[in-house]
Amino acid sequence: MKIIVQKFGGTSVGSGERLRNVAGIIQATLKTHPVIAVVSAMSGTVKAEGTTSQIILASEQALAGASYQEPLENIRRTHVKAIGEAVQGKAASQELAEAVEQELTRLELVLGAVKTLGEISPRSLDMLLSGGERLSARLLAGTLADMGTEAVYMDLSEVVAPEEKEVNPGFFLRMQHLMAEYCRPMGGKVPVVTGFFGLVPGGILKAVGRGYTDFTTALISAGLGRQAVEEMQVWKEVDGIFTADPRKVPTARVLAAISPNEAAELTYFGSEVLHPFTMERVVSAEIPIRIKNTFSPQGPGTIILPKHEDKTQRVTAVTAKRSITIVTIHSNRMFNAYGFLARVFNTLDRHGVIVDLVSTSEVSVSFSVERADSVEATAKDLKEFGDVKVERGRAILSMVGEGMKFSVGTAGQMFSTLAAAGINIEMISQGASEINISCVIKEDDVPKGLTALHKAFLEG
Ligand code: ASP
Ligand code: MG
Repeated sequence: MKIIVQKFGGTSVGSGERLRNVAGIIQATLKTHPVIAVVSAMSGTVKAEGTTSQIILASEQALAGASYQEPLENIRRTHVKAIGEAVQGKAASQELAEAVEQELTRLELVLGAVKTLGEISPRSLDMLLSGGERLSARLLAGTLADMGTEAVYMDLSEVVAPEEKEVNPGFFLRMQHLMAEYCRPMGGKVPVVTGFFGLVPGGILKAVGRGYTDFTTALISAGLGRQAVEEMQVWKEVDGIFTADPRKVPTARVLAAISPNEAAELTYFGSEVLHPFTMERVVSAEIPIRIKNTFSPQGPGTIILPKHEDKTQRVTAVTAKRSITIVTIHSNRMFNAYGFLARVFNTLDRHGVIVDLVSTSEVSVSFSVERADSVEATAKDLKEFGDVKVERGRAILSMVGEGMKFSVGTAGQMFSTLAAAGINIEMISQGASEINISCVIKEDDVPKGLTALHKAFLEG
């Protein structure tokens, strides 16, 4: 039987009751398939209160020479409480409680060093971060055992060989195979794997970023390959991928299937679907990804299927990316001057500014950037090219759909729909992939814009 690789997000394993719920999902899956479970660190619904965020907070406090006891206490409290709720066996819960204390002692040791030295290396930060997933994986393995399913705790925090000095495509390929070997289910026991893997050269946050567990799961799945893996499942607290954010557009509905490119565009343009690197890994391995809801596991979820194409539907989903800043350079010197854009982009590159959309005319160039904090310094340097205008509080509104490749007039209809809703469009861009049309509007107009587009393209 092929394996199902299941990733459980931090909220899905965020309490004792939730751990038991997840263990139940794994047990149900085991009736038909072997399972590999990969977990994020425990979290409430607010990410800032999650274990990883608490660890980052503790590291910042240690670095500042302050006390880091409060975040550590928060971590202790949530985990001890969860063990009490999840595990009935006396000896087992005793053992888990000891594991929590050991982990906290380890964290304290590293934090103490950070405080004394007044500096933190990517390596020491990773050593701290790994604690979150080491704890959650331990607790889930313990919960499964308590519920009668044999499980093995798998710690990937030392999977990277010390010889690895640089993160390049070859690095992830090597990791993929190594991790697949580690995690392959053996002897009928369920591997419960830490979503943290390391120690990654330069640190996991730089190489992968927050939400790295999705990517770890993708590496394991791709490493095992499609001969071995039925599908990769990502268990979250939503029913799947929606036609629009259901909190903003009440008529939004769950999509049964979507293509990897569509999912990638949605992720990039503001819908938190999956960690951006995830898709590429699994798609090249031709493994489907299914998004499921841990709080309503019977639902079919959304499947991301390689080669999926629904020609009957022009637009698959609408999305918005907020907190965008628009920078416009207006210059007569641009006229007939080659190399102008290259110089502008060199400046942006120097400041590490990531640009989403660009639009140019003969006398001006506008681009949208995500991180407003890097804009000030950049704008100063850009003044050598002309007048610089910085506008904050903008959003990118996007329509995504493979079906747009086969139809004409979609962009026109998008703009007239927004105009009819009284929304001013400040920039327009159509992605080269032809499956995304985006425009920049005022952030305040987002709810109205999403609703209007959803009504025009996705209802009735
Ligand atoms: N726990 C980590 C984070 O909060 C990784 C993850 O959730 O995938 O970023
Ligand atoms: Mg997460």
